[in-house]
Amino acid sequence: MGSASGAAKVAVVRLTTSRMPQAKETSSTTIAASRVATLTEASGALPVNSAASFLHHLCLDRADRWYPLLAVHYLTYACRFRCPYCSNGEGRPYPTMPSPALPGSRVLELLRIIRSHSDHLVLTGGEPLEHPDVAEVLEGLKPLKFRGVILTTNGQGLEPVLPAVARSVRYLVCSLQTLDSRKGDLGYGSVPGTHERILENIDRAARWPGRRFEIIISSVVTPGRIAELYGVYRYAQERGFRLAACPQLVGVKAHADLARSGEYRAFFNFLIAEKKRGARIQGTVDYLEHLRDLRKFSCRPFALLVVDPTGQVFYPCLELGRFAGNLFEEPDLHRLRLRGAAKHGPQPDCDTRCHSACALGFSRLLANPLSGLHEAVCWGRGWWGGLSRPKPGPRAPEGRLASTAPLSRAL
Ligand code: SF4
Ligand code: SF4
Repeated sequence: MGSASGAAKVAVVRLTTSRMPQAKETSSTTIAASRVATLTEASGALPVNSAASFLHHLCLDRADRWYPLLAVHYLTYACRFRCPYCSNGEGRPYPTMPSPALPGSRVLELLRIIRSHSDHLVLTGGEPLEHPDVAEVLEGLKPLKFRGVILTTNGQGLEPVLPAVARSVRYLVCSLQTLDSRKGDLGYGSVPGTHERILENIDRAARWPGRRFEIIISSVVTPGRIAELYGVYRYAQERGFRLAACPQLVGVKAHADLARSGEYRAFFNFLIAEKKRGARIQGTVDYLEHLRDLRKFSCRPFALLVVDPTGQVFYPCLELGRFAGNLFEEPDLHRLRLRGAAKHGPQPDCDTRCHSACALGFSRLLANPLSGLHEAVCWGRGWWGGLSRPKPGPRAPEGRLASTAPLSRAL
């Protein structure tokens, strides 16, 4: 939507990009801010308007308003894998957490409420495809008319749900740490053949007839395993996939060894150079530089709405593990923000932490919208970080995609 970039541009010219909910304002910013308030208030009564929400975050982020730019729903925390880097905000691996699962019909009810607050949705976990009614949920997404649905998966259970994915999902995010199947199986803590099956499933997804969803390969940068990620990067680029790389977090902090690792820095320098020459890499250069340097940033948690498997809304963020209330009981997000503040206090002033795609990505985009102007244009049409609307059909070289052999063998 062109208006997203236009709106951002106006805001950048007229307003500072710092947070200023209760700050003293100049007369010009007051006028602009009141226009934004009117716009966002008006959009609250209408179907969600991402551009107005973006402007709200850019200019106001009032403490009594919650206009998420992206909703993230943890369908389940369950996962059969045992990746050594798996960690929630407390450092706990998701598969070790209790994971109540709502029935599919109830999940769709919850997603309907979420839809009234956000144009864009991430379905994640754990492993979301391990939700017992995941097929029903995916099939039920279409009528909810999200403008963009992102599904993150380890790829193991992809095959049976691919038809539903193709109908409802815009960005399919598959984790991949290595092209070496032996190491891959060990990394998942799974039986031999698992990694190979995952590569086959990614192949299947890539070859899906008339594919309209984009494939993103998501890699966690872990100490001692960085060299393998260059191969994963090539694998992604050769097939027209996007690569999303994030540092391993232990709880909310990047693994201590990464900060002092020249190899880590060199990998992000490589990605930044590739990004500058137009490679398909998730995030802006500014965002990648923050990941490289593990820099402190000013967090904007209310740009997101994060909902647990039962409908509980994290306040202010997943990482702190606290809840404002349940969306089934209180579907009004503004009230939930106030309730969260009353229970847990205002947004904390955090130290250097949370170098994740959502927390860092949106915070930097709001702090420095010019850095991602071309990406913000696409954000209006899809997910943050998208460079272009997914085009129909495979974008990898035809010959390779036509091959029946797993793509990894073609490298
Ligand atoms: S696949 Fe994801 S949820 Fe499962 S163990 Fe690995 S990192 Fe954790
Ligand atoms: S930096 Fe942001 S996401 Fe992380 S704990 Fe603080 S408020 Fe939450």
